[in-house]
Order: sequence, then C-alpha cells, then structure tokens
Amino acid sequence: MNAPDTPFPFDAAVQAAADRIEPDVIAWRRDLHQNPELGNREVRTARIVAAHLRSLGFDQVLEKVAHTGVVGLLKGGKPGPVVALRADMDALPVVEETDVPFKSTVRTEWNGNPCGVMHACGHDAHTSILMGVASVLASIRDRIPGSVKLVFQPAEETPPIGEDGGAKMMVAEGCLKNPDVGAIFGLHVTSIHPTGKIGYRSGPLMASADDFRVFVRGNQTHAAMPWRGIDPIVVGSQIVLGLQTIVARRMNITHEPSVVTVGVFRGGVRHNIIPDEVRLEGTIRAFDEEHRNQLHEHVKRIAEMIAEAGGAKANVHIHRWYDVTVNHPGLTEWSVPTLARIAGEANVNVVDKVCGAEDFSFFQKEVPGFFYFMGCTPVDRDATTAAPNHSPRFYVDERALKLGVRTLSALALDWLSANAKG
Ligand SMILES: [Zn+2]
Ligand SMILES: [Zn+2]
Repeated sequence: MNAPDTPFPFDAAVQAAADRIEPDVIAWRRDLHQNPELGNREVRTARIVAAHLRSLGFDQVLEKVAHTGVVGLLKGGKPGPVVALRADMDALPVVEETDVPFKSTVRTEWNGNPCGVMHACGHDAHTSILMGVASVLASIRDRIPGSVKLVFQPAEETPPIGEDGGAKMMVAEGCLKNPDVGAIFGLHVTSIHPTGKIGYRSGPLMASADDFRVFVRGNQTHAAMPWRGIDPIVVGSQIVLGLQTIVARRMNITHEPSVVTVGVFRGGVRHNIIPDEVRLEGTIRAFDEEHRNQLHEHVKRIAEMIAEAGGAKANVHIHRWYDVTVNHPGLTEWSVPTLARIAGEANVNVVDKVCGAEDFSFFQKEVPGFFYFMGCTPVDRDATTAAPNHSPRFYVDERALKLGVRTLSALALDWLSANAKG
C-alpha cells in the first residue's frame, strides 16, 4: 500500500514520520500546557515555534506578525502552488482544575484583573500538532510539489481590551500573500467527540459573534416615589424581554438559527433608590451575514423604542467581532475523502453547527478554507458529559494529537499534488 506509484505517494512517509514525532508532539504540548500565555502575550510560545521551524531549515520564518504570530514557509523540492495550515496559540484566563502532572499554575492579569491562565480551549494541542506537521513535511520536502505556509496565530480568543490582533490582523499584515496562498486548512480539538472522530460541515460551521451594550438612561429618584423619576430598571427589564422576541418572532429560523443573549444587567446601589442608569451587555450569534445585519437592526430598534415608550433613553453600541466561519463547499467536498482515508470512513462525519465563533473566518474570507473538529475525549469516557472547551476541567487526550498531525499533513500534500501543474 501507498508505494510511490499509488495515488497517495506520501501516506507511508507521513505515517512513519508522524509515528516518529509523536513523543515530541506530546512533550511540546505538555510544555505549552504548563506555560500558557494569553492573547497577544504568546512570547515564549512564539519563540519555541520559531526556533523549531528554523531548526528544520524552513526557508522563511517571520516573527512578530500581528504582535506575536509566527509564519513559516517551507519550499518543496518541486514547483507548485502554496497551501497554508493554521494553528492558534493563545490560552484563556481560567484557573486550571485538572489533575494532570503538567497542570498550569500560571497567574497573571487580564484586562486589569488578576487571573489564572489555562489552555482551556486546546490551542496548546493545535500549536504542537502544527509543529509536528512542520517536522513531517520537512522530512519529505524534496518530494513536495509546492510550498507550505504554517500560520501560528495569536489571540484567537480576542486580544485584551484596547488592543488589536488575531487572524484579522495577520491577514491585514499580509500573511496570506507573498507567496500567495491558494487554500487554508485548520482544525479544532473538541471534548464533544471521542478521540479518533472528526466532524465537518460544508458552508456555515460556526457563528458570527458580536457583542452589544445598551445604556438605559432614566431619572434617579426615591424608590418610594417612582412617579418622581424614570425607572431604568423596569425599562431595562422590558428591553431584555423585548430582545427575546427577535429570534422567536422576527427571524426566519427555517433558513439559519440565531441567538440573542443578555449576559449582564447592572444598575443601582441601594434598595431604596431608583438609579439613573442601567447597563445591559449581551451577544448576538448568526450563521448568515444578512441575518446578522437584521439582528443588529432589531436589537437597536427594540432597545431604543422600548426605552422611549417608558420615557427613558437607550444608547446602543454593537461591536462586530468574528464573521461566520464558512467552509468553502468545493474545498470541503474535496477534503472529506482525504480525512476518511487517514481517519477511517466511519470516523468522519457531518456535525451540527456550533454557536461558538472562530476567527479562522477571516482567513476564509481571503482564500478557500476548510476548518474541522477533532474529538479529544478519551474513548473510555462519555464525550457528551465531558468538561467542555473553556472549562477549568477541559481535558485533551494526547492520543488525538497524532491524528491531527496526519490529517493536516495529508490535506496539505493532497492539495498541493492536486493543484500542481503538469
Ligand atoms: Zn476557545
Ligand atoms: Zn479555540
């Protein structure tokens, strides 16, 4: 099987190299896990990544892309196009509660508040997997028809307040240009599937994520004499309920789902004072750009009009964060046989949409991109009840790492082989 004259001449070499590098990938992942860094602060992580790529003889290693990002270019021995693979490197402000021996005890600050730091979303796995891919591809570089760009991205979980960063900034700094990338692939580990399983979806996969703040201005008065003022708590409460009618009554849910959630309701200092102002904060999720704009209009109008009806005034601010993560249908269809060949057909399945967001979407707006999920809950545990990504008890089964190395390597090599001219 997989001798050089078969349709998949790289499989045997990739498998052997992935087997060889697996202990290193696990060791890198443990080190990164024990030394996690928050968004735009991935200084140590970036240094390790860059040193690794240089040690493998990468033709170009750019550092400090979008603050702390690293972009490596490996030119194959044969002419051909350029494919990109992406891993995110940042951790989360979470105090780790697992009992692994390489548990993080790091403490730092996030937006001015003291916090723990934990790789609670598995980006340590993504970074070490892509370092493993670098080793695998470098070991067969003479045979590669084209070039591979490895994109190690900071601040996927958003940069600290007041800073820019992440995929959007990497794209703005030209990480997909010079040489120009033809397609990009990325993966995410997830607790909701067992190790060995891969989930994918064509078209919209993950939601857009935007946040909103509503300042409801009333008129402060004694709580025993509400008629002397305007009560922003009652008006704010009506706004919360009004916002819940948007998805239920205004959106065409047969087309795509959407979510409007109020997560913060703040106001008042004493039981016997009606305050001047309350503040609401929430999130808007959509799987379609037109829906997304409609949701924004509804949130604004409902908050403003309800406030006006109550004699108050609402100021609405909406911040657009991440676009919908949309898998290019043609590239998705093309990718599935590769995943099935490597992971086994029964292990590759279409999954539901996810209301979480990913800034991989910004790469996909520039070039065709395919993003897939890889299970990381040990097969002897129940994935439906495993601690989810972002939990202080989130757990990555290290047996999943090698499948990540093999699938990303195979996608890159298959894509280059299929798109090399001649
Ligand atoms: Zn996350
Ligand atoms: Zn993540």
